[in-house]
Amino acid sequence: MTGFTLCDYHMHTPLCGDAEGEYHEYAQYAEKRGLSEIGFTGHCPQYYLPPAERDGHCSIVQEELGTYIEEVSKVARNKQGTLEVRTALEVDYVPGKEKGLVPFLHYYDWDYLLLSVHFINGWAFDDPRQVKVFDEKDVGKVYTEYYRILMQGMRTGYFHVVAHFDLPKKFGHRPGRNVREEEDALHLCRDMGLVLEVNTAGLRKPVKEVYPSLRLLKKAFNLGIEVCLGSDAHRPEEVAAGFCSALKALKEAGYTHLVCFRNGEKHQYPIPEGYCK
Ligand code: ZN
Ligand code: FE
Ligand code: FE
Repeated sequence: MTGFTLCDYHMHTPLCGDAEGEYHEYAQYAEKRGLSEIGFTGHCPQYYLPPAERDGHCSIVQEELGTYIEEVSKVARNKQGTLEVRTALEVDYVPGKEKGLVPFLHYYDWDYLLLSVHFINGWAFDDPRQVKVFDEKDVGKVYTEYYRILMQGMRTGYFHVVAHFDLPKKFGHRPGRNVREEEDALHLCRDMGLVLEVNTAGLRKPVKEVYPSLRLLKKAFNLGIEVCLGSDAHRPEEVAAGFCSALKALKEAGYTHLVCFRNGEKHQYPIPEGYCK
């Protein structure tokens, strides 16, 4: 294929502790899969914990943030002309801790920032080791609380992209009723001009579907919300994984375009014809 194809805007690095493979290997896979562009999104340092408790679990430690940027820049230079490489962060949003986050937002001229909610009052609800906690909860309330936190994150105005929008479904837990906050969060996404990430990691999890679901993608399309693609790769082979399933869902929802970012500014590009054969 020639011309601009696709961007994978969600991938991790060995610095996060929960991912493997070298930066250039992620880039190699991206080329192999015919992508035009990738964005590294290492987890922001644990700004929400007191410094002494920051153990770097599933996140970049503050002292290594400079290395992260250097490594990504190196790949970007090496791939110049063949693959565009963006430098970004996945931010675990924790309400009330914004003050600690701000220095990291300004640490570098990030191409974009992903808003992620992985914690509900300290409970890492998407961590397989803490999945049992669901048994003690009203799943509908979990969703409500989750979307409230997500909306708080959106309102900060710090972010460009809302990552894995319906993450609480990861292990298959469904609210069993309509969650009004889900609808509110979609409207807020539209009102704030935020981009919705179509994250294919869900296909590799018990729920076996993309985040957000096709049902939500249809609503998002009708609201005029723009979308981008992310594999949430934690190893090089996962780059662009499931993209054809994602594109199928996007097409069914009505989407013809995706967005990419340059220095925090978004640009639309058409979904390439014939990427999936
Ligand atoms: Zn991760
Ligand atoms: Fe995440
Ligand atoms: Fe991630």
